[in-house]
Amino acid sequence: MPLPTRIPLATWPTPLEPAPRLAVALGLAADDLWVKRDDLAGPAGGGNKIRKLERTCAEALAAGADVLVTSGAPQSNHARLTAAAAARLGLGATLVLEGDAPDGDRGNLLLDRLLGAAVVWAGEVGADGLVAAVHTEAGRLSAQGRRPHVVPFGGSSPSAAQAYVDAAAEIEEQGPRPDHLVVALGSGGTTAGLVAGLGAERVLAVHTGAVDDPAGTVGGLLAGMGVDAGPLRLRLDQVGDGYPALTRPVVDAVRLAARTEGLVLDPTYTGRALAGLVAAVRDRDVRPGERVVFLHSGGLPGLFGHPDAARLVG
Ligand SMILES: *Cc1c(COP(=O)(O)O)cnc(C)c1O
Repeated sequence: MPLPTRIPLATWPTPLEPAPRLAVALGLAADDLWVKRDDLAGPAGGGNKIRKLERTCAEALAAGADVLVTSGAPQSNHARLTAAAAARLGLGATLVLEGDAPDGDRGNLLLDRLLGAAVVWAGEVGADGLVAAVHTEAGRLSAQGRRPHVVPFGGSSPSAAQAYVDAAAEIEEQGPRPDHLVVALGSGGTTAGLVAGLGAERVLAVHTGAVDDPAGTVGGLLAGMGVDAGPLRLRLDQVGDGYPALTRPVVDAVRLAARTEGLVLDPTYTGRALAGLVAAVRDRDVRPGERVVFLHSGGLPGLFGHPDAARLVG
């Protein structure tokens, strides 16, 4: 029997919900805007990473792994969901996080510890330094007789990105054809899968500053998937002072979603994605009468771990 390429970690499909009050507040028609609730997918607070982990965990189990090793920012949602997936599958988890240990574990870090993951602080090492630190840690575990499986940064690989090709098909089945799928771009796998599934012209990806070269990152994943997508629609205007920053447009966007729909976004990813949609409607890149699906990709624990979260209500 062939080994499975997916191991179920959530209940599918996630809901696709209307957001008429938010639509009107953005300047769209009431039935133009729908929210794909991938924030409800999977254990431990949920989020988009669980779709990719269904694939990478299948690879890990097929390789006989007994511990997952991955990396991320201190408030990485991917690291938290890797810890949750590991717990569910009876594997260990080692999370190599950039920076130094903060005083007190908040947000995702609190959940990482609760889920039983080992946390290793890599220092301010940059993207290449983080990859090196993961391999050092995997080597250390192997030397102890463990069988580590490295899950890439953000869980994004060409095979993991296939999970969002499936998500694209799920969205197409759930309602009328979307003209625009709005998504936050971090490590790029979610965007790559959606582009492969829907076509580049229908995916509006909002860069968060998580990688240095978003077009190259997504292009590399697409090439690995054997997809020649053509020009991507990337918005690069929502990064502000960098990935950890909470920008004014994001404060406004997070408040707007909360106060029109009771929908809570996060300051790092989904808040930037909505701020990008606000800007796209202003630019007339997205127009009333066109159908928009906004991907709520999760991240709520990151809100509770954000040092400037109080500014959302101040
Ligand atoms: C990681 C993440 C994203 C971006 O997904 P990538 O596949 O890394 O581009 C979007 N939203 C949230 C909440 C995330 O944690």
